[in-house]
Amino acid sequence: MRQDKILRCITSDGAVMACAADTSDLCFKAEKTHLTSPAATAALGRLLTAASIMGAQLKQQDASITLRIKGDNSETGAVIAVSDSQGNVRGYVQNPDCPTEYYENGKLNVGKAVGKTGILNVMRDYGTGEPYVGQVPLVSGEIAEDITNYYATSEQIPTVCALGVLLDKEDHEVLLAGGLLIQLLPGADDSTIDKLEKNVSELEPMTTMLAKGMSIQEICETALKGFEVEVLDEMPIRYACSCSRDKVIDAFVTLSDDEIRSLADEKGYAEAICHFCKKKHRFSKLQLEQIIKNKHES
Ligand SMILES: [Zn+2]
Repeated sequence: MRQDKILRCITSDGAVMACAADTSDLCFKAEKTHLTSPAATAALGRLLTAASIMGAQLKQQDASITLRIKGDNSETGAVIAVSDSQGNVRGYVQNPDCPTEYYENGKLNVGKAVGKTGILNVMRDYGTGEPYVGQVPLVSGEIAEDITNYYATSEQIPTVCALGVLLDKEDHEVLLAGGLLIQLLPGADDSTIDKLEKNVSELEPMTTMLAKGMSIQEICETALKGFEVEVLDEMPIRYACSCSRDKVIDAFVTLSDDEIRSLADEKGYAEAICHFCKKKHRFSKLQLEQIIKNKHES
């Protein structure tokens, strides 16, 4: 069985970092969870892949990163992806059944669906203190270019980002998905940049390399051809939601007693559906009364 994973490596001279991820399973899971149209599947899959790679760079155990794209005239509506510091992700699209358009070459027009202009928000939450929030305008809505632009303008890190989601032509299920992020570290000289630019210009699309059976390590090594490469780590990643009954209760207790009671429907049940995993958290009238009671006792 194949398993999604993420691999990080660095050149021995410390000048370039590369991170590649195979996210085929988690993008498949996202499509099955949210029943997304092809355009929405590609948009969400690309953003989940980017979030996973960016999340895996976070050093703090409890940290998380949230990417939110809100395009103007967007058919998908907002697209949101959240990753923990191990690269495990969850996400959703506001309009999962949005229309799908294609470029003349047959490729999905993700920019059209997401919005070619708009905003990309990046929020890093380190688990303590205020989260760090960055915001940049969208460049194309194709997502990889928007991530590249975010790093260049918001963090001044020269970055190459490639993201790909390949769908079955017939049933539109996710066949392959993955991403690659290459970053120049402080101290990279001109010859490093020249060599890297040449490598990047020769690089095939991410899903083409995965379809050839290349491992994510081989993909990183191809991107860093001519450099001596050290693997920093390789981790399994998956689609994972952090919702729980206790978190729903935490949200309920912020409401007034009457508001909590009014959550019950005519059958006497309150139901909270998680945006990220579609799990239903159900509470009976009696359980709602217990929540109100506990709220006043604590
Ligand atoms: Zn959930």
